[in-house]
Amino acid sequence: MSELKIDVRVTQSDRKSMKLSVSADGTVLVEAPKAMSKKQITALIDQKKSWIISKVKQRNAAGTLYNNLLGTDAEKISYLGRECVLKLEETEATKAWVKLKNGELIVYSNDTSPETVKSLVEKWFREKTKAEVEFWIKCYQPQFDQVPNRIVIKEQKKRWGSCSNKNNLNFNWRLSMMPTWVIAYIVLHELCHFEELNHSSAFWESVEKRMPEYEKANQWLKDNGHRFLPE
Ligand SMILES: [Zn+2]
Repeated sequence: MSELKIDVRVTQSDRKSMKLSVSADGTVLVEAPKAMSKKQITALIDQKKSWIISKVKQRNAAGTLYNNLLGTDAEKISYLGRECVLKLEETEATKAWVKLKNGELIVYSNDTSPETVKSLVEKWFREKTKAEVEFWIKCYQPQFDQVPNRIVIKEQKKRWGSCSNKNNLNFNWRLSMMPTWVIAYIVLHELCHFEELNHSSAFWESVEKRMPEYEKANQWLKDNGHRFLPE
């Protein structure tokens, strides 16, 4: 475990009572009445210590997760191209789960450390990606003479998918963050490598024949793809 560093910023004004909040970057903001002494403020902060620690941990977990999953976008997470807010709910139960509800991706866990939250969310995306990939393979496979030998959803830092000469297909587990029409293109692209294991004009003709608007997806990936890869 790394040490938890907490920045506290105290401001004093005409208010009647003290207010505590934790900003998006994990700084603890203390708004205290003018009349309150430093000693009183410190004592009150001390009383709220466990609340502050859990809030700061939540913020840090969220920050780390966003950074790992989406690069620079620190506020939102994307599922099938729709933006969701990532929320952490600390539970008493030892069982942990992830649920998408009203545009929020909620992680329920009694351990809200960045490592745990990240692995829970990654597992959730892996399952969603697997379902999406299987769906699109089912759609497009009948158009090919060959079938996939093995389909693996895995960590890929720089690519979305790949196809080997043994018809083994690999897909990046982050795929389900992207719009479903882009996932369809990525799956079709890899299936077309059954026929051409290169990016020759024959290969692109084989893609275009089955998805005439494929260039739109290609362009989307050029413009947005980097946001879905780790830095
Ligand atoms: Zn390719």
